[in-house]
Amino acid sequence: MKSQNRTLTISSEARTEILDITSQIKEIVAEINLSEGLLLLHSMHTTTAIIINENESRLKKDIEKVLDILFSNREYMHDQIDNNADSHLKSIFLSQSQVVPVSESQMILGTWQRILFVELDGPRTRKIFVQAIST
Ligand code: ZN
Repeated sequence: MKSQNRTLTISSEARTEILDITSQIKEIVAEINLSEGLLLLHSMHTTTAIIINENESRLKKDIEKVLDILFSNREYMHDQIDNNADSHLKSIFLSQSQVVPVSESQMILGTWQRILFVELDGPRTRKIFVQAIST
Protein backbone atom coordinates (compact mmCIF):
# COMPACT_ATOMS: atom_id res chain seq x y z
CA MET A 1 0.00 0.00 0.00
CA LYS A 2 1.37 3.35 -1.03
CA SER A 3 0.02 6.87 -0.61
CA GLN A 4 0.54 10.12 -2.44
CA ASN A 5 -0.67 13.49 -1.25
CA ARG A 6 -1.72 16.61 -3.08
CA THR A 7 -3.34 19.88 -2.04
CA LEU A 8 -5.98 21.47 -4.23
CA THR A 9 -6.51 25.22 -3.78
CA ILE A 10 -9.81 26.76 -4.79
CA SER A 11 -11.37 30.20 -4.47
CA SER A 12 -15.01 30.86 -3.73
CA GLU A 13 -16.82 34.02 -4.75
CA ALA A 14 -19.88 34.07 -2.47
CA ARG A 15 -20.74 33.38 1.17
CA THR A 16 -22.45 30.15 0.16
CA GLU A 17 -21.40 28.47 -3.04
CA ILE A 18 -21.38 24.90 -4.36
CA LEU A 19 -18.45 24.27 -6.70
CA ASP A 20 -17.99 21.19 -8.87
CA ILE A 21 -14.39 20.04 -8.35
CA THR A 22 -14.71 16.68 -10.15
CA SER A 23 -12.50 17.68 -13.09
CA GLN A 24 -9.71 18.98 -10.83
CA ILE A 25 -9.78 15.74 -8.83
CA LYS A 26 -9.71 13.72 -12.09
CA GLU A 27 -6.58 15.63 -13.10
CA ILE A 28 -4.93 14.68 -9.81
CA VAL A 29 -5.83 10.99 -10.31
CA ALA A 30 -4.23 11.11 -13.77
CA GLU A 31 -1.18 13.07 -12.60
CA ILE A 32 -0.34 10.65 -9.79
CA ASN A 33 -1.13 7.65 -11.99
CA LEU A 34 -3.50 6.02 -9.50
CA SER A 35 -4.95 2.88 -11.11
CA GLU A 36 -6.51 0.96 -8.18
CA GLY A 37 -7.18 2.41 -4.76
CA LEU A 38 -8.96 5.03 -2.75
CA LEU A 39 -9.03 8.77 -2.86
CA LEU A 40 -9.54 10.66 0.38
CA LEU A 41 -10.75 14.23 -0.14
CA HIS A 42 -10.49 16.30 3.01
CA SER A 43 -11.38 19.96 3.32
CA MET A 44 -9.03 21.70 5.73
CA HIS A 45 -11.59 24.19 7.02
CA THR A 46 -14.33 24.35 9.64
CA THR A 47 -16.83 26.24 7.47
CA THR A 48 -16.76 24.17 4.28
CA ALA A 49 -17.91 20.71 3.22
CA ILE A 50 -17.42 18.15 0.50
CA ILE A 51 -20.42 16.25 -0.81
CA ILE A 52 -21.10 13.88 -3.69
CA ASN A 53 -24.27 14.69 -5.57
CA GLU A 54 -25.71 16.05 -8.80
CA ASN A 55 -24.40 19.34 -10.17
CA GLU A 56 -27.79 20.76 -11.13
CA SER A 57 -28.37 24.46 -10.55
CA ARG A 58 -31.86 24.17 -9.03
CA LEU A 59 -30.79 21.30 -6.78
CA LYS A 60 -27.86 23.40 -5.57
CA LYS A 61 -30.32 26.19 -4.69
CA ASP A 62 -32.44 23.60 -2.83
CA ILE A 63 -29.42 22.44 -0.85
CA GLU A 64 -28.70 26.04 0.16
CA LYS A 65 -32.36 26.53 1.05
CA VAL A 66 -32.49 23.47 3.30
CA LEU A 67 -29.26 24.47 5.03
CA ASP A 68 -30.69 27.94 5.65
CA ILE A 69 -33.98 26.53 6.96
CA LEU A 70 -32.09 24.28 9.37
CA PHE A 71 -29.34 26.60 10.53
CA SER A 72 -29.68 30.28 9.61
CA ASN A 73 -31.13 33.13 11.66
CA ARG A 74 -30.78 31.51 15.06
CA GLU A 75 -29.18 32.87 18.18
CA TYR A 76 -25.90 31.00 18.53
CA MET A 77 -23.24 31.46 21.20
CA HIS A 78 -20.40 31.38 18.64
CA ASP A 79 -21.89 34.43 16.89
CA GLN A 80 -20.80 36.50 19.90
CA ILE A 81 -17.18 36.11 18.77
CA ASP A 82 -17.23 35.18 15.08
CA ASN A 83 -20.70 35.66 13.54
CA ASN A 84 -20.55 32.46 11.51
CA ALA A 85 -21.97 29.76 13.77
CA ASP A 86 -24.40 28.72 11.03
CA SER A 87 -21.44 28.10 8.69
CA HIS A 88 -19.77 25.78 11.21
CA LEU A 89 -23.00 23.92 11.92
CA LYS A 90 -23.76 23.42 8.21
CA SER A 91 -20.22 22.09 7.75
CA ILE A 92 -20.67 19.56 10.57
CA PHE A 93 -24.04 18.52 9.13
CA LEU A 94 -22.63 17.90 5.62
CA SER A 95 -19.16 16.46 6.44
CA GLN A 96 -15.70 17.74 5.58
CA SER A 97 -14.38 14.66 3.79
CA GLN A 98 -15.32 12.00 1.26
CA VAL A 99 -13.73 8.80 0.02
CA VAL A 100 -14.00 7.87 -3.64
CA PRO A 101 -12.90 4.47 -4.97
CA VAL A 102 -10.66 4.36 -8.04
CA SER A 103 -10.50 1.38 -10.42
CA GLU A 104 -8.80 1.08 -13.81
CA SER A 105 -7.56 4.67 -13.33
CA GLN A 106 -11.13 6.04 -13.10
CA MET A 107 -13.02 7.36 -10.10
CA ILE A 108 -16.08 5.21 -9.47
CA LEU A 109 -18.91 7.72 -9.70
CA GLY A 110 -22.48 7.13 -10.85
CA THR A 111 -23.86 8.87 -13.92
CA TRP A 112 -25.03 11.93 -12.01
CA GLN A 113 -22.52 11.90 -9.19
CA ARG A 114 -20.10 14.80 -9.03
CA ILE A 115 -17.72 15.88 -6.29
CA LEU A 116 -19.01 19.16 -4.92
CA PHE A 117 -17.10 21.52 -2.65
CA VAL A 118 -19.46 23.53 -0.46
CA GLU A 119 -18.32 26.98 0.64
CA LEU A 120 -20.28 28.07 3.71
CA ASP A 121 -18.45 31.25 4.78
CA GLY A 122 -16.91 32.75 1.68
CA PRO A 123 -15.61 34.29 -0.35
CA ARG A 124 -12.27 32.78 0.60
CA THR A 125 -9.33 30.78 -0.69
CA ARG A 126 -9.63 27.18 0.46
CA LYS A 127 -7.46 24.07 0.56
CA ILE A 128 -8.50 20.49 0.01
CA PHE A 129 -6.06 17.78 1.02
CA VAL A 130 -6.16 14.82 -1.35
CA GLN A 131 -4.59 11.53 -0.28
CA ALA A 132 -4.45 8.79 -2.89
CA ILE A 133 -3.95 5.30 -1.49
CA SER A 134 -3.04 2.70 -4.09
CA THR A 135 -3.86 -0.92 -3.28
ZN1 ZN B 1 -16.34 30.78 13.51
